[in-house]
Amino acid sequence: MKRIYLDHAATTPVHPEVAKSMLPYFSERFGNASTLYSYGQEAREAVEEARGKVALLAGAQSPKEIIFTSGGTESDNFALCGVAWANQKKGDHIITSAVEHHAVLNTCKFLQKRGFKVTYLPVDHYGFVDPDDVKKAITNKTILISIMHANNEVGTMEPIAEIGKIAKENGVYFHTDAVQSFGHIPIRAEELKADLLSASAHKLYGPKGVGMLYIRKGTKIVPFLYGGEQENKRRASTENVAGIVGFGKACEIAEGTMTEESRRLATLRDKFIKGILEKIEFIQLNGHPTKKLPGNVNVSVKYVEGESMLLKLDGKGICASSGSACTSSILEPSHVLTAMDVPPDVAHSSLRFTLGRENTEEDVDYVLEVLPDIVKGLRLMSPLYQKKRGSYKEICQINQEGKDED
Ligand SMILES: *Cc1c(COP(=O)(O)O)cnc(C)c1O
Repeated sequence: MKRIYLDHAATTPVHPEVAKSMLPYFSERFGNASTLYSYGQEAREAVEEARGKVALLAGAQSPKEIIFTSGGTESDNFALCGVAWANQKKGDHIITSAVEHHAVLNTCKFLQKRGFKVTYLPVDHYGFVDPDDVKKAITNKTILISIMHANNEVGTMEPIAEIGKIAKENGVYFHTDAVQSFGHIPIRAEELKADLLSASAHKLYGPKGVGMLYIRKGTKIVPFLYGGEQENKRRASTENVAGIVGFGKACEIAEGTMTEESRRLATLRDKFIKGILEKIEFIQLNGHPTKKLPGNVNVSVKYVEGESMLLKLDGKGICASSGSACTSSILEPSHVLTAMDVPPDVAHSSLRFTLGRENTEEDVDYVLEVLPDIVKGLRLMSPLYQKKRGSYKEICQINQEGKDED
């Protein structure tokens, strides 16, 4: 069966050139980058070369501003806790948004338990944070603003440059979780006035388990891990040399291909959105139609459970995602869609497709071919849909049509 991967926001396959660049660092160049003999020095050089490539893609002023971590989650934890602990004499207030990734939200919850105060800004129907709300939320106790660069569920790109400017004017540190956008759309930390920026290799065709935190020179932050003196004494532990080399390679590839690839994906996305809205009734697009990540398509197919559609899609070889995640046996609707004022039943009927480098127009055509039938089949079993469709006679007709086609 044809397999079509449309869940690039969850993770991406390692680019073949990335895998190739990593291989020597598992075998002939296995040295510890902190040792003095040539084995170690080879590893050190490879790590520093990778740091340069990551710094270039991030628009950092110096490679020293890049600290390698174990991934996006650690970078977010490090940024929030590191700044909170280092600046608690100045204040105890943090501003974030209701639509952040759990790596930010749950760190904020932890900090609240440790005495910090957190403001969770609302978003509008598209998922946008209003920069004016950020400005109004700042008090003389505010030490950090953390707003994501682009949302992982609906792809909405936040007005980061405006928020960065407000943070700067008020002397408050600004962190942005750029895990979804890094390597996909241009990001220049300097221009955005970000003091801290998180990214993760596995979201841009690099390996899992390696990420980075950009820390602008002069930012007051305490380490998150204690031990040796690696990463300029900011993050102890022997460097993940192969992972870091792969991350560097992924950044180098992204630097060269991003402009063209983002344009290609946006065209595919727009075709996908147009087709899906035309072919399926009672459907809504979640997030902004254009101010969103190039590869993101998030829709709610009303009167059908997202998870039922995912299972049927999987049966047709298509990997996608839904806005309802089964957590602790209670089916919670997505916090992002909920914050965007999407009613719970509509949030439960959401589907997220995220396109990537290997997807083609044929892939989109295939989904547009199989999804309407999947939806039709599931809706025949949905009492809500049948009620919506009106009279009993019509329902029988629909049922009949369904039978004829099966
Ligand atoms: C994936 C993701 C993370 C977590 O990154 P990991 O490397 O998987 O820990 C954080 N924030 C956003 C927006 C993400 O999409």
